[in-house]
Amino acid sequence: MYIKLGGKILLMTKRIYNFNPGPATLPLPVLIKAQSEFLNFNDTGMSVMEISHRSKQFEAIIFEAEDRLKKLLQIGDDYRVLFLQGGASTQFSMIPLNILTSGKEANFVLTGSFAEKAYKEAAMIGDVHVAATAEDSNYNYIPTIDKYKLSENPAYLHITTNNTIFGTQFKEYPNYSDVPVIADMSSDILSKPIDANKFALIYAGAQKNLGPSGVTIVVIHKSLIEASDKSLPTMQRYDIMAKNDSLYNTPPTFSIYLVNLVLEWIIEQGGLSAMELHNEEKASYIYNAIDTSNDFYKGHALPEYRSTMNITFTLNNKDLEASFISKAAERGLIGIKGHRSVGGMRASVYNAMSKEGCRALADFMIEFQKTNS
Ligand code: PMP
Repeated sequence: MYIKLGGKILLMTKRIYNFNPGPATLPLPVLIKAQSEFLNFNDTGMSVMEISHRSKQFEAIIFEAEDRLKKLLQIGDDYRVLFLQGGASTQFSMIPLNILTSGKEANFVLTGSFAEKAYKEAAMIGDVHVAATAEDSNYNYIPTIDKYKLSENPAYLHITTNNTIFGTQFKEYPNYSDVPVIADMSSDILSKPIDANKFALIYAGAQKNLGPSGVTIVVIHKSLIEASDKSLPTMQRYDIMAKNDSLYNTPPTFSIYLVNLVLEWIIEQGGLSAMELHNEEKASYIYNAIDTSNDFYKGHALPEYRSTMNITFTLNNKDLEASFISKAAERGLIGIKGHRSVGGMRASVYNAMSKEGCRALADFMIEFQKTNS
């Protein structure tokens, strides 16, 4: 039996392959579980959306999510996980507001549009410095760590581990004994095992690898919480958010609930090593279709910096691009139009994208080439 609302059937089963960069596809078991307990969460007789953020039921969710994320990242009690609002973009200013003290410089590795945005926001707050940049070749690579030139008094170094628009990804991370490293991991958090203990702060908008939009995860070392500026307005203060377990004001409860379910799903899949294998296999289907195409398709990122999350490519014959996108959509492959700064196509294949989805896109690419060359 179907349930109808506003003339629409709500219990539908048709799913397509959604390659959008975010909000992005979510694991189907997560959606089904959320649907199954939507009207009555944990025998409360209420939807999870209706329960108080101060209730013990919601506290259980937020603490479980913090716990699961810490387990997956293998970090201990010297870190807190904060669930904040305002998107990853708010962190572009919140980080320097809290941590960039006068007489020091915020250092940046510029590897794409979001790194640039983070840099520009920090420049409104204090002194900034570009330690390395890949702007010279439209961000198709990641500068190697030995090329970084840090400023004299670095407050921290900021990197963007995966560049959603350009499709490049850090393969190794900088690490210093005396300079905190801060990472925007919005588009590759939990996609592979990392040594999270090397980072002073990791942040990510949830809407790619962690859940729906509306919540931003900030994993912050206690030393940064302690050192943060205490004269800021309340909602900008990491120490207040941490002291109140992200419950100083009303947090985005439904988004946090879904993040918790996504974390449960990742753990059930075998954790981050399993995610890495899954993601590498998926990405290889599509990169192989590019590499064996005799330049019919051309990858944007240099091979050694290719992202397993966002695969960017153009068609040699630009006139075919509109037809590529519309034919793909007819096959149920959507969200593959590239960002205007690169042009062409971008397939975003975060953790929740299935192998079948990537295989279907790769098969379509091979077939499209045959028909059009
Ligand atoms: N950083 C990266 C790497 C991103 O991909 C995005 C969004 N696409 C952002 C930051 C901005 O995130 P938000 O929309 O949550 O502010």
